[in-house]
Amino acid sequence: MGGFVWFRCGNCRYEEHDLGVGHGREEMPFLSLFRCDSCHSVGSTWIFADRVPRCTLCYHDAVTLLPEDVSQLPCPKCGGPAVFERIEGEWR
Ligand SMILES: [Zn+2]
Ligand SMILES: [Zn+2]
Repeated sequence: MGGFVWFRCGNCRYEEHDLGVGHGREEMPFLSLFRCDSCHSVGSTWIFADRVPRCTLCYHDAVTLLPEDVSQLPCPKCGGPAVFERIEGEWR
């Protein structure tokens, strides 16, 4: 089942809470973490087999998808050290 992660930057305090990741009942679509260099954010977006993934914040279509087990990333706002943490809960 899908889970949730929390992204936070220790430098500028940028945070994204409750980002859904993973699969529900079906293999597709699934939720993947992304970094958007257009609006300088991270988030999670639905991945469909036949559609280009888009930023859920600015709808830009050239987001960088992150591996499911990503735990660290330079903050998209300030470039400082930021982390992804698994949090309680699941979705299906
Ligand atoms: Zn930051
Ligand atoms: Zn964006």
